[in-house]
Amino acid sequence: MNDCLFCKIVNKEIPASIVFEDDKVLAFLDINPVSIGHTLVVPKEHSESIEDISTSALCDTMSALPTIAKGVVSGVGVKAYNLGSNVGKEAGQAIMHTHFHIIPREDGDGLKLWPQRQYTDQSEQEETANKIRQAIPIDKT
Ligand code: AMP
Ligand code: ZN
Repeated sequence: MNDCLFCKIVNKEIPASIVFEDDKVLAFLDINPVSIGHTLVVPKEHSESIEDISTSALCDTMSALPTIAKGVVSGVGVKAYNLGSNVGKEAGQAIMHTHFHIIPREDGDGLKLWPQRQYTDQSEQEETANKIRQAIPIDKT
């Protein structure tokens, strides 16, 4: 994808602070980090998100993630991290090339996870679970 920023980083057309690279996966520092060492892990093959990524690119990326994450936290000297992916504009995805955020965390860093709420009642919870269950395709072959 010619106009994709992360493809340009993959192709070394624009610079990035690369921390890991193999033939399928690249990891580099986020230019506007949530915390020091905030790293983005991307498959080299272009896809918009886990909605359209190839199984092989997803497997390659997921396989690389723990090793990269261990390096990130060890390198910056913390023990914990948030691992996440924004899928879709409404969820905050700004760059439409599949990527995973590794965000180093430590006690007292002041970062808050997203706010939680409660279901109105048990039936709302059960109806929601039913709708999701029915919407998940199950391969019974
Ligand atoms: P998302 O909102 O999940 O799409 O995340 C995109 C991330 O890419 C943001 O956290 C940006 O700070 C980061 N970003 C944007 N441009 C660059 C760049 N040139 N190099 C490194 N990170 C970038
Ligand atoms: Zn791309």
